[in-house]
Amino acid sequence: MISNYKAIIFDMDGVLVDVKSSWAKVHESFCVDNEDSLNAYKDGIINDEEFIRRDIALWKTECPQISREDIKNILKKVPKMKGFSDTIPYLHDRYTLGIISGGLKPLAEFIGVDHFDFILANDLEEKNGELTGEGIVEVKLDGKGVVFEKLISRLGIEKERCIALGNSHFDVPMIKKAGLGIAFNPDDQEIVDAADLVIEEKDLSLLIDRLDL
Ligand SMILES: [Mg+2]
Repeated sequence: MISNYKAIIFDMDGVLVDVKSSWAKVHESFCVDNEDSLNAYKDGIINDEEFIRRDIALWKTECPQISREDIKNILKKVPKMKGFSDTIPYLHDRYTLGIISGGLKPLAEFIGVDHFDFILANDLEEKNGELTGEGIVEVKLDGKGVVFEKLISRLGIEKERCIALGNSHFDVPMIKKAGLGIAFNPDDQEIVDAADLVIEEKDLSLLIDRLDL
């Protein structure tokens, strides 16, 4: 059946893919650790652009000429969430689908290009086949609410007719603005407390069953 909802907006990491962080997946593959800059970001000492710049600098210490394609190849190994292959094409036939992610755009494009009407995530600037060291910030970690509002107004869809899903406190501003906010595979209590509906199981097909979509 077709419900009153028009659009479904997904966080990526922990929701569409079964990893907590696409950034961490790349760090792991280079055996680097960004704890210092993560703490500096949490303490408000650095902004999103500087956080990304420091992450890319870590990769470049291991592989100075790394390209966006190299990063995409690393990220291709990230598993899609259970239920993705059956559920997402089914939903895409019926609803506008989008990704709003603080994760890496090369991964969002790889999993989403065939099934999502728009993809907002954070990208890596490249010149002459090499990362320049700068990021392209489309979604600030604490800015998902603003991005969500801009996007649905551009699409001309009322927020009441949107469903939004996220797994962490970074998604709270987004799911609170949506007509229906879902905590999927929740990683912390804040997202659970903010949600209209909680799906603990890591299985996207439950969306169709639970919401009668
Ligand atoms: Mg997430």
